[in-house]
Amino acid sequence: MKSLLITNGHLVTLDESNRFVENGSIFVEGKHIVEVGQIPPGKYKAERTIDAGGSLVMPGLINAHHHLYSTFARGFTPPGPPATNFEEILRNLWWKLDKALDSEDVYYSALLAIMNAARAGCTTIIDHHASPSCVDGSLDQIERAFRDVGLSGCLSYEVSDRNQPGEGIEENERYIRKCHESDDDQMTALFGLHALLTLGTRTLERCAEVGHALDAGFHVHAAEDEIDVTTTMERYGRGVMDRFLDFGIAGKKTIFVHGVHFESRELDLLRSTDSILVNNPESNMNNGLGVAPILNMLKHGVLVGVGTDGMSSHMISQARAMYLHQRTYLRDPNVAFVEACEILLANNRDICNRLFRESRGMLAAGQLADIIIPEYVPFTPLTADSFYGHLLFGLSYTRMRTTIARGEVIVDDGHLPHLDENEIRAKCAERAPRIWDRIS
Ligand SMILES: [Zn+2]
Repeated sequence: MKSLLITNGHLVTLDESNRFVENGSIFVEGKHIVEVGQIPPGKYKAERTIDAGGSLVMPGLINAHHHLYSTFARGFTPPGPPATNFEEILRNLWWKLDKALDSEDVYYSALLAIMNAARAGCTTIIDHHASPSCVDGSLDQIERAFRDVGLSGCLSYEVSDRNQPGEGIEENERYIRKCHESDDDQMTALFGLHALLTLGTRTLERCAEVGHALDAGFHVHAAEDEIDVTTTMERYGRGVMDRFLDFGIAGKKTIFVHGVHFESRELDLLRSTDSILVNNPESNMNNGLGVAPILNMLKHGVLVGVGTDGMSSHMISQARAMYLHQRTYLRDPNVAFVEACEILLANNRDICNRLFRESRGMLAAGQLADIIIPEYVPFTPLTADSFYGHLLFGLSYTRMRTTIARGEVIVDDGHLPHLDENEIRAKCAERAPRIWDRIS
């Protein structure tokens, strides 16, 4: 079995006792961590030893909501007058871009974004995908990209009445079954839905029927913009959470994304159904949608996670954006700092541990060996009390020297040695103008 020893690290274990170990070591065998702490030299014979050089070493990060297909939007300006509201943003950009992707575009957009995630220390991504011109097998293309890079992924296809919803339902069903039948826990799946805004009664009924028969959780945008709330009320006389509950869409494996416009009563419904809420602060800022009441959600006992919603693949900067967003909104310099760090490190871990069989998110024996070594040798004391300050002020834009996922070294000295990065970039550069032409 493959083995790996990391030495000379400043370990931030995030384990049950939140241990910080100076000059610590980690021994990895196969895809799991065997021992963490001050390991006597010579105790283990490893195939490879990595000297962390006194740098901080911590568990790999988790992105709780991404759209890998957004990769080719970078730098693109939709033709015509600028969007003036959320629906126009969807119509002018995202609903054109996703339609323009062919099956290889899906693969390359995922590949490039997953490589960027690995470089930013992210080792697990929960993705939400749409490619209406090539639905069947699209999740396999994304899985191929995850396997080529080596990270773990949770995939779902976005069902919506704006396209042929039956195709999306079949893709979710097919892929969820595939994950159920696989012994390998690298990939898992949720049943993907766009949002109530684009989902009529018949489609929701069918999705709920198929999703429940598969015992799958759902992954859906909810109350992102006010239009989702007002449209649901006008069409059905129901609040957003009431409408989901009418179809039994909720529960401990179900992710509601955004919730910017959830009322206090709906937060109680999230809690009573033990559902997950994922906040995406940079995306909410970018779309001018408002500020999700994160602190209130936490007070209601909701499991709140954080994702990037396709804005980037960098999770520490997202946690930083979250606390700054909340402070600006509440005009209070004493809030959200601890909460943003806990949401990133503990809550995203708890979300993954509901969706995957293998435990991750701690440096501890038996955990999946997802480990990152940023280029960061602290020059001020690093302790349990100061760590969050290091995280948000020191690490938010630091590149990873080493990223280990599932026991494999994915990023080595800042590069991804098992992939031809130049060739992948060249292929993407070839495809991008053709995609842009199709949506211009
Ligand atoms: Zn999203």
